[in-house]
Amino acid sequence: LVRLTGVNKWFGDLHVLQDVDLTIDRGEVVVVIGPSGSGKSTLCRTINRLESIEHGEITIDGTPLPAEGKALAALRSDVGMVFQSFNLFAHKTILENVVLGPVKVRGKSKAEAEKRARELLDRVGVGHQADKVPAQLSGGQQQRVAIARALAMDPKVMLFDEPTSALDPEMINEVLEVMVGLAKDGMTMVVVTHEMGFARRAANRVVFMDGGRIVESSDPETFFTSPTSDRAKDFLSKIL
Ligand code: ATP
Ligand code: MG
Repeated sequence: LVRLTGVNKWFGDLHVLQDVDLTIDRGEVVVVIGPSGSGKSTLCRTINRLESIEHGEITIDGTPLPAEGKALAALRSDVGMVFQSFNLFAHKTILENVVLGPVKVRGKSKAEAEKRARELLDRVGVGHQADKVPAQLSGGQQQRVAIARALAMDPKVMLFDEPTSALDPEMINEVLEVMVGLAKDGMTMVVVTHEMGFARRAANRVVFMDGGRIVESSDPETFFTSPTSDRAKDFLSKIL
């Protein structure tokens, strides 16, 4: 579904992605881990072209990512993204936050978009908060709204960049539960996270990055019990 081939990216002199090859099949859940600065966020951002690349190719459903214009907007709306900071519109209600994209980008009617938004808000457990503004919700609730908002666009793939790292500990699980549910329902997901419990429960594959390279890529069981690279061993010894 998503294929990166020989992807290279520089920020000035800094070679942040080096010869990255990665294929994500439909329904697959890939967890990306690695030290700070290893290029995990940049990798996510290249997949919906929030960042351009200097070399290589990225395709979604076989279609290369267009450089700009309407084609890019269309393709980008197939890729849902959830960030560490929830990025909700502060002055709009929860419901409006979820309705906006489908109406503006997908051309849905307001009634249709609202019906779907309420379903999604119920699904992530915040249906009763629909008429509040984001600041009236806890961090965990806001992040679940952000997930509902991304789902409202009917994305082919969902990218999560450390979705729980800004949350208080007691709110982390409620967000992870929603993500586990999505994984079980067959959503294709790329998840940057240090939540190894999530990786063990939901990931089909763990990708370990270091210095802009994919150093290791294996199933969670293999990765956690017998990582092959010294760098992955060292990293795991620090976080587990
Ligand atoms: P973290 O775990 O801290 O989130 P990360 O693995 O997500 O780290 P990236 O954010 O992808 O790492 O950053 C990779 C490298 O690129 C880092 O050295 C970072 O400083 C650099 N970098 C990221 N964004 C930019 C930018 N817009 N301009 C210049 N350098 C950048
Ligand atoms: Mg990051």
